[in-house]
Amino acid sequence: MAAKIARVGVMGGTFDPIHFGHLVTAEGARCEFGLDQVLFLPSGQPPHKDLKEVTPANHRYMMTVLATLTNPYFEVSRIDIDRRGISYTIDSLKCLRQEYGAGTELFFITGADAVFEIMTWKDSKKLLEIAHFIAATRPGFSLEDLPAETRAWIAKHRERFYVLQIPAMAISSTNIRQRVRDGHSIRYLVPQQVDYYIRRHWLYRRERTPI
Ligand code: ATP
Ligand code: MG
Repeated sequence: MAAKIARVGVMGGTFDPIHFGHLVTAEGARCEFGLDQVLFLPSGQPPHKDLKEVTPANHRYMMTVLATLTNPYFEVSRIDIDRRGISYTIDSLKCLRQEYGAGTELFFITGADAVFEIMTWKDSKKLLEIAHFIAATRPGFSLEDLPAETRAWIAKHRERFYVLQIPAMAISSTNIRQRVRDGHSIRYLVPQQVDYYIRRHWLYRRERTPI
Protein backbone atom coordinates (compact mmCIF):
# COMPACT_ATOMS: atom_id res chain seq x y z
CA MET A 1 0.00 0.00 0.00
CA ALA A 2 1.26 3.50 -0.84
CA ALA A 3 2.47 5.58 2.12
CA LYS A 4 -0.26 7.81 3.53
CA ILE A 5 0.18 11.51 2.83
CA ALA A 6 -0.74 13.28 6.03
CA ARG A 7 0.04 16.95 5.39
CA VAL A 8 -0.43 18.43 1.95
CA GLY A 9 0.34 22.01 0.93
CA VAL A 10 -1.80 23.50 -1.82
CA MET A 11 -0.32 26.37 -3.79
CA GLY A 12 -2.96 27.92 -6.01
CA GLY A 13 -2.11 30.52 -8.62
CA THR A 14 -2.40 31.70 -12.17
CA PHE A 15 1.30 30.98 -12.68
CA ASP A 16 1.46 33.21 -15.75
CA PRO A 17 4.37 32.47 -15.57
CA ILE A 18 5.53 30.62 -12.45
CA HIS A 19 8.59 32.32 -10.89
CA PHE A 20 11.05 31.94 -8.02
CA GLY A 21 8.75 33.85 -5.64
CA HIS A 22 6.22 31.00 -5.92
CA LEU A 23 8.87 28.31 -5.56
CA VAL A 24 10.58 29.86 -2.53
CA THR A 25 7.21 30.31 -0.85
CA ALA A 26 6.16 26.70 -1.47
CA GLU A 27 9.49 25.32 -0.26
CA GLY A 28 9.44 27.61 2.79
CA ALA A 29 5.96 26.36 3.71
CA ARG A 30 6.97 22.74 3.18
CA CYS A 31 9.93 23.03 5.54
CA GLU A 32 8.26 25.19 8.17
CA PHE A 33 5.06 23.16 8.40
CA GLY A 34 6.52 19.69 7.80
CA LEU A 35 4.46 19.12 4.65
CA ASP A 36 4.76 15.75 2.91
CA GLN A 37 3.92 17.26 -0.45
CA VAL A 38 3.13 20.59 -2.07
CA LEU A 39 0.57 20.49 -4.82
CA PHE A 40 0.65 23.34 -7.35
CA LEU A 41 -2.75 24.15 -8.77
CA PRO A 42 -2.64 26.31 -11.90
CA SER A 43 -6.05 27.91 -12.21
CA GLY A 44 -8.37 27.35 -15.14
CA GLN A 45 -10.33 30.57 -15.44
CA PRO A 46 -9.23 32.73 -12.49
CA PRO A 47 -12.16 34.57 -10.83
CA HIS A 48 -10.23 37.81 -10.37
CA LYS A 49 -8.60 38.03 -13.78
CA ASP A 50 -9.87 38.79 -17.25
CA LEU A 51 -9.68 35.59 -19.33
CA LYS A 52 -8.55 37.51 -22.40
CA GLU A 53 -5.42 38.57 -20.56
CA VAL A 54 -4.50 35.14 -19.23
CA THR A 55 -2.24 32.76 -21.17
CA PRO A 56 -3.93 29.48 -22.22
CA ALA A 57 -4.02 27.01 -19.34
CA ASN A 58 -1.89 24.38 -21.03
CA HIS A 59 1.08 26.73 -21.35
CA ARG A 60 0.76 27.71 -17.68
CA TYR A 61 0.47 24.06 -16.69
CA MET A 62 3.56 23.09 -18.72
CA MET A 63 5.64 25.89 -17.21
CA THR A 64 4.54 24.84 -13.72
CA VAL A 65 5.56 21.23 -14.41
CA LEU A 66 8.95 22.34 -15.76
CA ALA A 67 9.59 24.60 -12.77
CA THR A 68 8.74 21.97 -10.17
CA LEU A 69 10.42 18.94 -11.80
CA THR A 70 13.56 18.98 -9.68
CA ASN A 71 11.81 19.06 -6.29
CA PRO A 72 10.63 15.56 -5.29
CA TYR A 73 8.09 17.07 -2.87
CA PHE A 74 6.39 19.18 -5.54
CA GLU A 75 3.51 17.95 -7.70
CA VAL A 76 1.23 19.72 -10.16
CA SER A 77 -2.49 19.07 -10.37
CA ARG A 78 -4.74 19.67 -13.37
CA ILE A 79 -7.99 19.67 -11.39
CA ASP A 80 -8.63 23.39 -11.85
CA ILE A 81 -7.62 23.36 -15.48
CA ASP A 82 -9.77 20.38 -16.38
CA ARG A 83 -12.82 21.62 -14.51
CA ARG A 84 -14.99 23.88 -16.63
CA GLY A 85 -15.86 27.42 -15.63
CA ILE A 86 -14.30 29.74 -13.08
CA SER A 87 -11.71 28.24 -10.71
CA TYR A 88 -12.97 28.78 -7.17
CA THR A 89 -10.60 27.70 -4.43
CA ILE A 90 -13.45 26.23 -2.42
CA ASP A 91 -14.27 23.78 -5.25
CA SER A 92 -10.62 22.76 -5.60
CA LEU A 93 -10.27 22.18 -1.87
CA LYS A 94 -13.47 20.12 -1.76
CA CYS A 95 -12.10 17.95 -4.59
CA LEU A 96 -8.79 17.50 -2.80
CA ARG A 97 -10.51 16.72 0.49
CA GLN A 98 -12.36 13.90 -1.27
CA GLU A 99 -9.27 12.67 -3.07
CA TYR A 100 -7.02 12.58 0.00
CA GLY A 101 -9.63 11.61 2.58
CA ALA A 102 -10.37 12.97 6.03
CA GLY A 103 -7.02 11.83 7.50
CA THR A 104 -5.03 14.38 5.47
CA GLU A 105 -4.51 17.95 6.66
CA LEU A 106 -4.64 20.47 3.82
CA PHE A 107 -2.65 23.72 4.02
CA PHE A 108 -3.59 26.37 1.51
CA ILE A 109 -0.53 28.54 0.78
CA THR A 110 -1.00 32.10 -0.37
CA GLY A 111 0.90 35.38 -0.58
CA ALA A 112 0.02 38.21 1.79
CA ASP A 113 -1.57 40.16 -1.08
CA ALA A 114 -4.09 37.38 -1.74
CA VAL A 115 -5.26 37.29 1.89
CA PHE A 116 -7.22 40.44 1.27
CA GLU A 117 -9.04 38.67 -1.56
CA ILE A 118 -9.89 35.60 0.53
CA MET A 119 -12.71 37.38 2.24
CA THR A 120 -14.27 38.11 -1.12
CA TRP A 121 -13.86 34.51 -2.21
CA LYS A 122 -16.86 32.27 -2.50
CA ASP A 123 -17.50 30.50 0.85
CA SER A 124 -14.48 31.86 2.68
CA LYS A 125 -15.78 30.45 5.99
CA LYS A 126 -16.06 26.95 4.57
CA LEU A 127 -12.50 27.27 3.24
CA LEU A 128 -11.13 27.46 6.74
CA GLU A 129 -13.09 24.39 7.77
CA ILE A 130 -11.50 22.38 4.97
CA ALA A 131 -7.95 23.74 5.08
CA HIS A 132 -5.41 25.58 7.19
CA PHE A 133 -4.16 28.82 5.70
CA ILE A 134 -0.54 29.90 5.37
CA ALA A 135 -0.05 33.54 4.39
CA ALA A 136 3.49 34.18 3.14
CA THR A 137 5.04 37.62 3.45
CA ARG A 138 5.54 39.34 0.12
CA PRO A 139 7.48 42.57 -0.43
CA GLY A 140 5.14 45.50 -0.84
CA PHE A 141 2.28 43.79 0.98
CA SER A 142 2.06 43.89 4.74
CA LEU A 143 -0.57 42.09 6.75
CA GLU A 144 -0.58 45.11 9.07
CA ASP A 145 -1.77 47.27 6.19
CA LEU A 146 -4.85 45.14 5.63
CA PRO A 147 -8.20 46.76 6.41
CA ALA A 148 -9.38 46.37 10.01
CA GLU A 149 -12.15 44.07 8.87
CA THR A 150 -9.69 41.64 7.26
CA ARG A 151 -7.40 41.72 10.30
CA ALA A 152 -10.36 40.98 12.55
CA TRP A 153 -11.25 38.04 10.32
CA ILE A 154 -7.69 36.69 10.59
CA ALA A 155 -7.67 37.14 14.38
CA LYS A 156 -10.95 35.27 14.64
CA HIS A 157 -9.52 32.28 12.77
CA ARG A 158 -6.08 32.36 14.37
CA GLU A 159 -6.01 28.63 15.08
CA ARG A 160 -6.23 27.82 11.33
CA PHE A 161 -4.35 30.81 9.96
CA TYR A 162 -0.55 31.15 10.03
CA VAL A 163 1.91 33.77 8.82
CA LEU A 164 5.09 32.56 7.14
CA GLN A 165 8.15 34.77 6.85
CA ILE A 166 10.00 34.05 3.64
CA PRO A 167 13.12 35.69 2.21
CA ALA A 168 12.01 38.82 0.41
CA MET A 169 11.36 38.17 -3.27
CA ALA A 170 9.91 41.17 -5.03
CA ILE A 171 9.10 39.15 -8.14
CA SER A 172 5.69 39.11 -9.80
CA SER A 173 4.36 37.47 -12.95
CA THR A 174 3.08 40.88 -14.05
CA ASN A 175 6.60 42.26 -13.94
CA ILE A 176 8.01 39.23 -15.78
CA ARG A 177 5.44 39.56 -18.57
CA GLN A 178 6.31 43.24 -18.88
CA ARG A 179 10.03 42.48 -19.04
CA VAL A 180 9.51 39.95 -21.83
CA ARG A 181 7.33 42.42 -23.71
CA ASP A 182 10.06 45.05 -23.37
CA GLY A 183 12.75 42.63 -24.50
CA HIS A 184 14.49 42.50 -21.10
CA SER A 185 16.10 39.44 -19.57
CA ILE A 186 14.13 37.30 -17.10
CA ARG A 187 17.08 35.06 -16.31
CA TYR A 188 17.31 34.31 -12.54
CA LEU A 189 13.71 35.43 -12.02
CA VAL A 190 12.27 32.17 -13.36
CA PRO A 191 13.81 28.68 -13.66
CA GLN A 192 15.86 28.34 -16.83
CA GLN A 193 13.43 25.83 -18.38
CA VAL A 194 10.59 28.32 -17.95
CA ASP A 195 12.67 31.01 -19.64
CA TYR A 196 13.29 28.61 -22.57
CA TYR A 197 9.62 27.68 -22.74
CA ILE A 198 8.54 31.34 -22.89
CA ARG A 199 10.96 32.04 -25.74
CA ARG A 200 10.10 28.89 -27.63
CA HIS A 201 6.36 29.62 -27.57
CA TRP A 202 6.67 33.38 -28.01
CA LEU A 203 4.68 34.04 -24.87
CA TYR A 204 4.05 37.60 -23.60
CA ARG A 205 5.24 39.23 -26.83
CA ARG A 206 3.24 41.49 -29.05
CA GLU A 207 4.81 40.10 -32.18
CA ARG A 208 7.16 37.34 -33.24
CA THR A 209 10.43 39.21 -33.17
CA PRO A 210 13.67 37.63 -31.95
CA ILE A 211 14.88 38.67 -28.47
P1 ATP B 1 0.31 38.38 -11.20
O1 ATP B 1 1.28 39.53 -11.14
O2 ATP B 1 -0.06 37.97 -12.59
O3 ATP B 1 -0.88 38.54 -10.28
P2 ATP B 1 1.72 36.82 -9.21
O4 ATP B 1 3.21 36.99 -9.24
O5 ATP B 1 0.96 37.54 -8.14
O6 ATP B 1 1.13 37.11 -10.66
P3 ATP B 1 -0.02 34.58 -8.93
O7 ATP B 1 -0.05 33.40 -9.84
O8 ATP B 1 -1.08 35.60 -8.98
O9 ATP B 1 1.43 35.27 -9.15
O10 ATP B 1 0.18 34.11 -7.41
C1 ATP B 1 -0.06 32.84 -6.91
C2 ATP B 1 0.17 32.87 -5.41
O11 ATP B 1 1.57 33.09 -5.13
C3 ATP B 1 -0.59 34.01 -4.70
O12 ATP B 1 -1.02 33.52 -3.45
C4 ATP B 1 0.48 35.06 -4.53
O13 ATP B 1 0.19 35.90 -3.42
C5 ATP B 1 1.73 34.23 -4.28
N1 ATP B 1 2.95 34.92 -4.70
C6 ATP B 1 3.25 35.35 -5.93
N2 ATP B 1 4.47 35.94 -5.97
C7 ATP B 1 4.95 35.90 -4.71
C8 ATP B 1 6.18 36.36 -4.10
N3 ATP B 1 7.12 37.00 -4.81
N4 ATP B 1 6.34 36.14 -2.77
C9 ATP B 1 5.36 35.51 -2.06
N5 ATP B 1 4.19 35.05 -2.57
C10 ATP B 1 3.99 35.22 -3.88
MG1 MG C 1 -1.17 37.76 -8.27
